[in-house]
Order: sequence, then structure tokens, then C-alpha cells
Amino acid sequence: MDCIFCRIIAGEIPAREVARSAHAVAFHDVNPQAPVHVLVVPVAHAATAADAMALEKGDQVIAEVMRLGVEVARELELEKGGYRFVINTGDEGGQTVHHLHLHVLGGRQMRWPPG
Ligand code: 5GP
Ligand code: ZN
Repeated sequence: MDCIFCRIIAGEIPAREVARSAHAVAFHDVNPQAPVHVLVVPVAHAATAADAMALEKGDQVIAEVMRLGVEVARELELEKGGYRFVINTGDEGGQTVHHLHLHVLGGRQMRWPPG
């Protein structure tokens, strides 16, 4: 499959891995938008959260992505100052890689609304 995140999960493309669980992997974004910018992805390919939910054990997959994001935020010491979770979905959502990923952003003041 021609999916860049599947290739990272398979070890075919290098990435700075932060954490891993049975169904999810966390690695640093190659083009960070904040001092901390980690992506958490399900191991099983799914384009969106809706697609991931439709997988066998989909609820567990979604929960693990969220759990790993929380653990990454804790390990990278974002909890005290706060952080942001983002899931861009589809073209208008600004999604460029069509493998579900949770952005974990922190280490600076975030603004609202996003662009
Ligand atoms: P999206 O715009 O789909 O929500 O986010 C895709 C993210 O994937 C972007 O923040 C982009 O920098 C990141 N990204 C794209 N290609 C690679 C890659 O090869 N390695 C890593 N670590 N991140 C990538
Ligand atoms: Zn994929």
C-alpha cells in the first residue's frame, strides 16, 4: 500500500519513535509546528476516525490512539502547561496524509480559532 505512515510503522521509512502500544505508534512529526509535535497513528491502516471505528476492535483502536497521546503528553512534560490534540479529517479538514493521526502539539501558547 502506498501509505507513508504504513511505511513508517513497517520500518521502511525512518521516524523518531516516541512510544508504541499493541494498536498504536507515536513518532515525531518531520515538520514540527510547535516545540513538541508528535503524531499518534493506529497500526492498522484507516484513513479517518470513522474508518478506524469500523475496524474489528475499532473502539479499542481509537481508545489506544487517545491513550498513547495522553501518555506522550505526560512523558514529554506537556501536562502542566497544556497541549493540543488535533485530528484533521478530509480535504476541508486539512488532512494531507490519509492514515488517521492524532497530532499532539505543545510547548508554546496555542491560538484559537485555527486557520
Ligand atoms: P495532516 O495535514 O494530514 O493532518 O498531517 C500530516 C502530518 O504528517 C504533517 O504534520 C506532516 O509534517 C507529517 N508528515 C508527512 N510526511 C511525514 C514523514 O515522512 N515523516 C513524519 N515523521 N511526518 C510526516
Ligand atoms: Zn496507512
